Amino acid sequence: MRLVLLGPPGAGKGTLASLLKKQLNNVHISTGDLLREEMKNNSPLGQEAKKFIDNGKLAPDDLVTKLIENKLSNDVNIQNGFMLDGFPRTTKQAEDLDKILSVLKMPIDYAIYMETSLNLILKRLTGRRVCKTCGATYHVSNRPPKVENICDNCKSELVQRADDNEETIKTRMEVYVASTEPIIKYYKKQGKLKKIDGDMESEDLQSDLTKSFDEDKISH
Ligand code: AMP
Repeated sequence: MRLVLLGPPGAGKGTLASLLKKQLNNVHISTGDLLREEMKNNSPLGQEAKKFIDNGKLAPDDLVTKLIENKLSNDVNIQNGFMLDGFPRTTKQAEDLDKILSVLKMPIDYAIYMETSLNLILKRLTGRRVCKTCGATYHVSNRPPKVENICDNCKSELVQRADDNEETIKTRMEVYVASTEPIIKYYKKQGKLKKIDGDMESEDLQSDLTKSFDEDKISH
């Protein structure tokens, strides 16, 4: 199954992806995670991306598309399918993605749009905590770790993402409305869009969603 996950920051794309990954056994590819990894390694690409990420702006299309193209062309595990989380974020990225996937003969099956209300987004993002080491995501009240500030999986410290503060969240929302919402129309035109309620709990969403998938698409 090859999916694109669409929705505003805080819609729960990462949480849904980690649940679907266990079920579908496909690869979860988050451009935000790939970019943060580059930043952690202080690579030239990471240094360039940091200028945008820290301000809540989108990194340049070419830079992010190249990153995705490399990942899709070199990761053998994508034969079982993949979920793109945070990509595409502009119509240009969506068009370039279709070109890359047409060469690989792996078209997208569905674009899942998680429609989410603004006050919930703010609550989710300001309370979000992320494991420094394995990237697992928690929420101070909705999904707390067993021991405060410690990752259940790898026992590392949990931190708040630098861009999860109210001011940057506001910019990220504006960027989302301007650049990312048009992609919803792009996939609707292709007949691939599935709209779901991002306000629901991820486990309920997963169960509703997977019932609606075509059987023949689940196997790739
Ligand atoms: P995320 O973890 O998906 O919320 O992404 C964090 C930040 O990384 C975004 O606010 C952008 O600055 C950058 N980013 C992630 N994906 C993309 C993309 N597809 N295009 C441009 N910038 C991106």
